[in-house]
Amino acid sequence: MEEQQLVMIQETEAELNERFNEISRLVTYNQNKVLKAFQRLNVSDVHFTPTTGYGYDDLGREKLEELYAEVFGAEDALVRPQIISGTHAISTTLFGLLRPGDELLSITGAPYDTLESVIGHKQQVDGSLTDFGITYREIPLNTQGEVQRDLIKDYMSEHTKVIAIQRSKGYANRPSFSVDDIKKMIEYVKSIKSDAIVFVDNCYGEFVEVDEPTNVGADIIAGSLIKNPGAGIVRTGGYIVGRQDLIKRCANRLSAPGLGKEAGATLNSLQEMFQGLFLAPHTVGEALKGSYFTATLLCKHGFATTPSYDAERTDLIQSVTFNTKEEMIQFAQKIQQQSPINAYVTPEPSYMPGYDHDVIMAAGTFIQGASLELTADGPIREPYTLYVQGGLTYEHVKLAITEALCSLSLTTSK
Ligand SMILES: *Cc1c(COP(=O)(O)O)cnc(C)c1O
Repeated sequence: MEEQQLVMIQETEAELNERFNEISRLVTYNQNKVLKAFQRLNVSDVHFTPTTGYGYDDLGREKLEELYAEVFGAEDALVRPQIISGTHAISTTLFGLLRPGDELLSITGAPYDTLESVIGHKQQVDGSLTDFGITYREIPLNTQGEVQRDLIKDYMSEHTKVIAIQRSKGYANRPSFSVDDIKKMIEYVKSIKSDAIVFVDNCYGEFVEVDEPTNVGADIIAGSLIKNPGAGIVRTGGYIVGRQDLIKRCANRLSAPGLGKEAGATLNSLQEMFQGLFLAPHTVGEALKGSYFTATLLCKHGFATTPSYDAERTDLIQSVTFNTKEEMIQFAQKIQQQSPINAYVTPEPSYMPGYDHDVIMAAGTFIQGASLELTADGPIREPYTLYVQGGLTYEHVKLAITEALCSLSLTTSK
């Protein structure tokens, strides 16, 4: 590493002391929450024992689900290697809860890209919610990226069964919603229709704050184990936590009606899922430090970053907007070069199932697509925003971002 880069790192970190202390307090709080839950539930190494076949009487699986429910302050949970991704966890939840004639209402604008085909409202998709006669409406965010509260009442009808809230901005150009924002949304929705089921897409949000949406009234939430709650060591899986009656319906959807939560072999996944949850508060803290470092350094060099370097976080997504498509692509390629895995590969924008535009993905990760590891990706569309997230160690993030920035200024200054 060159002298100039070391100076850049030092100068940036000098501005982050107070913030890093705050993150350390957050991590301590969440680590304690998770540790106490392990102890209260008497988690033991027998719970790592794999099951095969039907997976009946899987003690470890049952303990893990109890543990998730405890940590998230909910009644019950489904935590499975058979949930293949965040999208699958969310899809399972929506299909579990909604029936033909019911309506799904998103109050936080357009959902994450891959959910468009789950809903099937834009184009006909076989097996989508729309295909099953479930209707969908969404309330766009206002120009400041805020929920249009005054419209919620008008949009709700006797058919509105599930209200969807997305915590993280995903690939959208809007702020993410804090747990406190979500709390207010839930209170308002419940004041209009007390039996509306509030679902929160919690992807990327876990352990970034002291509370989770289930602590503030969400009925059910879902996320991916190759993001925050897997701490970078869980190789596949997803979770759904929430009210027991709702989890039961999701379980019937995931496995088969009648089998519900009772089946599903865990093979060799249990130990890493327990350990991942234990490590998650710390790893999320590393990524969080990385995202503040990224925002602070890039902002200093004239790039627009959201959230800004001094804003509070509720998720791990840090977006950086580049002046040109070429700059965006080059930065992503440099991040790839700074990865532990496949550093020699050059990512190019290309088609991805579920996305409308070509997407560039720098992901030199141990686990395919694991975005709690340092990754940089985004659809190639204006305003050329790259989403930079994750980092198993803060040190990796600072090295990679600094190198990427330096290589960019080398080429642009020519
Ligand atoms: C990542 C993400 C998803 C989908 O998760 P996958 O595991 O990629 O399918 C959904 N919503 C949000 C907000 C996300 O960040």
